[in-house]
Amino acid sequence: MTDAFKTRRFDTRAVRVGHRRTPEGEQSEPIFPTSSYVFESAAQAAARFAGDEPGNIYSRFTNPTVRVFQERLAALEGGESCVATASGMSAILSTCLGLLQQGDALVSAKAVFGSTIMLFDNYLAKFGVAVHYVDSPDPEAWAQTIDRVRPKLVFLETPSNPLTQVYDIEAVAGICRQAGALLAVDNCFCTPALQRPLELGADIVIHSATKYIDGQGRCVGGAVVGDAERVGKDVFGVLRTAGPSMSPFNAWVFAKGLETLSLRMHAHCRNAGQIAQWLEDHPQVARVHYPGLASHPQHALAARQQEGFGGIVAFELKGGQAAAWQLIDAVRIFSITANLGDAKSTITHPATTTHGRLSPEQRAQAGIGDGLVRIAVGLEDPLDLIEDLEQALARI
Ligand SMILES: *Cc1c(COP(=O)(O)O)cnc(C)c1O
Repeated sequence: MTDAFKTRRFDTRAVRVGHRRTPEGEQSEPIFPTSSYVFESAAQAAARFAGDEPGNIYSRFTNPTVRVFQERLAALEGGESCVATASGMSAILSTCLGLLQQGDALVSAKAVFGSTIMLFDNYLAKFGVAVHYVDSPDPEAWAQTIDRVRPKLVFLETPSNPLTQVYDIEAVAGICRQAGALLAVDNCFCTPALQRPLELGADIVIHSATKYIDGQGRCVGGAVVGDAERVGKDVFGVLRTAGPSMSPFNAWVFAKGLETLSLRMHAHCRNAGQIAQWLEDHPQVARVHYPGLASHPQHALAARQQEGFGGIVAFELKGGQAAAWQLIDAVRIFSITANLGDAKSTITHPATTTHGRLSPEQRAQAGIGDGLVRIAVGLEDPLDLIEDLEQALARI
């Protein structure tokens, strides 16, 4: 099952990998809404179930449309195997179920997606996996914790949400390799169009396809990418048995999303960069967090590690929570929602939404101030977005 497009350049792989044209001669990838598949004989059924013959069995774990998405994303991240899942969270859960067991330790960045922390603290801990957090992008802090707790798995997300802290994937991967730990990177914010963690030494890449891979806010889905052993066997085994599967329709939306991914990501970066610059000069703004700004503490690392600085910008208003809420209520283009990765720009107040369940002390420790606003810059004209922010700031 060789796919000649896999050796082509990134944008060609994004458009072409995975589709095996059927005898109907279709140009666009077909959707296969079927739960099971028909075998030619009892012997063929037995061979498929035994794994002696490749091919479709049942759509919980084999579906041609899902396969197109998996092969395409694997080809973009540079991984041998990809397992598509029902959501980003089930991608993280499947990875943990496939790779960890009772008594293992997991080390994670503290600044990861809120539900990821809840999954680790409320559920993994319940089954005897000890979770330890690192609250700094400094590789020295990672080395200390990893040496101390000897984890099986290490997990991080870069740039972080909402403060866009950048973690050095290559440095942490080196520390993990020495300690015999696997490194998993949630690559949701950058996507392979901007950052390829496997090339930097990570073992596993995790996606919420819900965000930029879809790109238009339609479907929930996720994926795990890595080698044939850990992902193709261990994580796939969880999917096959436990069934957090992606639907063929969602896989089709995501596969088509990959075709325009790099175009969209570079446009998100351009628009976000322009808005971040403008915000930095605004008298009501105390501070802007965006890796593309020279003022960002890890600007040089981001420039080295990423091919663009992403679409997420966070900024602190001098007027605190009252000003943040007034701004959010006064914008006319941005949608008030915590989702991101959409063509439509979104705006949210982390302290009272995504980070609202933390105590005030925990929020302060995480650097989430009451005046902090996060925008996920979409694909509207950036001048219209700047005008929108300008009129909204004038009304505070
Ligand atoms: C949204 C998100 C997730 C969870 O993905 P779902 O598809 O919502 O389950 C995980 N990680 C990051 C960074 C996210 O933004």
